[in-house]
Amino acid sequence: EVRVRFAPSPTGFLHLGGLRTALYNYIFAKKYGGAFILRLEDTDQSRLVPGAAESIEDMLEWAGIPPDESPRQGGPAGPYLQSQRLDLYSQTAQQLLESGQAYYCFCSPQRLELLKKAALRSGETPRYDNRCRHLRVDQVQEKLAQGTAHVIRFRLEEGVEPFQDLIFGWNRHEVAQVEGDPVVIKADGFPTYHLANIVDDHYMKISHVLRGSEWLISTSKHLLMYRALGWTPPTFGHLPLLMNKDGSKLSKRQGDIFIQSFQRDGILPEALLDITTNCGSGFSTNRMGRRIDELISEFNPSKITTHSALLDLERLPEFNRIHLQQRIEDDERCLLLIKDLQVQIQQAYTTEIQDEEVLHEDYIRRVLHLRKGHISSLKELVSPGYSYLWVRPSFSSQQVTAFTAEAHHIASLVLKLMEERGEELTVDQLSEDLKTLAKQAKATKYRDVMKLLRLVLSGLQQGPSVAEMMVSLGRAEISHRFQKLLL
Ligand code: GLU
Repeated sequence: EVRVRFAPSPTGFLHLGGLRTALYNYIFAKKYGGAFILRLEDTDQSRLVPGAAESIEDMLEWAGIPPDESPRQGGPAGPYLQSQRLDLYSQTAQQLLESGQAYYCFCSPQRLELLKKAALRSGETPRYDNRCRHLRVDQVQEKLAQGTAHVIRFRLEEGVEPFQDLIFGWNRHEVAQVEGDPVVIKADGFPTYHLANIVDDHYMKISHVLRGSEWLISTSKHLLMYRALGWTPPTFGHLPLLMNKDGSKLSKRQGDIFIQSFQRDGILPEALLDITTNCGSGFSTNRMGRRIDELISEFNPSKITTHSALLDLERLPEFNRIHLQQRIEDDERCLLLIKDLQVQIQQAYTTEIQDEEVLHEDYIRRVLHLRKGHISSLKELVSPGYSYLWVRPSFSSQQVTAFTAEAHHIASLVLKLMEERGEELTVDQLSEDLKTLAKQAKATKYRDVMKLLRLVLSGLQQGPSVAEMMVSLGRAEISHRFQKLLL
C-alpha cells in the first residue's frame, strides 16, 4: 500500500518550496491509490512559530491538496504531531541502548565547542570524537545517578550503506567518517529530527519518502538506524530543489513566496500548483492550465529529473489568468468568484455605489465573462481602471467639448440606439452600430466619437473597447449615463 507523507517543521509558514514537496507527495499518493499524510515535526521546541502548524494545514486545504491523515483529521497512525509521540522515541532509544547500538554521552557543550574550534583551526570538518562510546558501565551508572546532563548518541557503523534513490539513482555516503556519532535524544529529552523521522516513518507505515534533495546525504544515516532496529526502510526519492530562475536560492526573506501572501494577492491555488509543476519535472509534456486531476493523471515519476526546478514568478500572472478563465467558465466555481467579488466591490466602493444593481449576480457574471482571458486577478476588477463598472464616472464639460461640439447630438443618437436594441447587447452587433452612429455625427471624426463615448461611460481615456464597456453596463445604465449629457 502506498503511504507518503509531508513532514514540515512548524518553524515557519508554508512557502512555495514546501507546497511543491507536499504536492508531489499528494500526486504520488493519488496516482497509486494511496494515502497522503501530514506529519508535523515539532521537536525543536525553541524554533516553533506560533500559528504555523495550523496555517500549514489550512494552506494545504486551500491549495486543494488536503491530507488524508493529519493532526486535524486524525487517522489510524496518529498522533501526527511529534511532540505527542515522545514515548515512542524514548522507547526506541531504549531499544538501541539495550542492544548496544546507542550510548549515553555526557560531554559538556563546552567540550564539544572546544572540539569544534580545534577542528576548524586545523582546517578540518568538526566531528564528534565518539569519546563516550568508551565509558564503562559503572561510569555511566554513576553519572546517571548524579543526574549529569546527557544526550543519547547512535553508534554509527563504519562503512557505507549504498542505496538506490528513485530520482538520484545509486548513492553512497561515508557517514561515520564525516560526522561522528549523531545525537538521537537531546538533553531536554526530545528526539532529534533523525530519530523521530525514522521512528515515525516506520510506525506510520510510510512506503515512499519523497522529500527535498537537501536530505539526500542524511539518508545513509537513516538507513543505518533502520538496520540497527531491524526495520525495513521505505523507498526514498529526493526531489530536486526549487530555485529562482537565475539559479539562486528561493528567498523567504521578502515574504513573497509564502502561500498566504499569494492567497492575499488573489492568486488562485490552481495557478500555484500549475506553475510549480511546470517548472519542475515529472511530466512527459509541459503545458499550462493543468488542474489537480490532470496533474495526477499526467504525472510520471520516472520523468523527475535531478536538475533544480527554476521558478519564474514573473509568469505567475499568466498562469493565474488561465486558471481564472477556467473558473469563470465553470458555472459552479464562477459563483464563488462572484461572491468573492461582491465582497471586494463593497469594500472598495462602500459609499460610492449609486445603484445596487452592480452587486447582482447576473451583472457580475456578465462582467466576468467579458473580461476573462484579459484579467489575471479578480482584484484588478476593483482597481480604478474598472471603477466605472461599479460607480458612475465624473467628468467635466471641458473634457466633453475637447472631443466634439456636437456632444448633445451624439448623446441622443446613443439613446435612440438603446431604444432600438433589445435587452441583450452583443459586442459584435454594437461595434457595427457604433460605426453607423459615428457617420451620423457629421462634424466629428470616428476616433473622437469613440473618445467621447468612452469618457461618458467610464470617465477614462482607455480600457476595454467601447462596445464591450457598453455590453457590460447594459442598456439602462448606458442610457442613464448619456441622459446626463443632455441636461
Ligand atoms: N522536518 C523535515 C523538514 O522540515 C522533514 C524532512 C523529511 O521529509 O524527512 O524538512
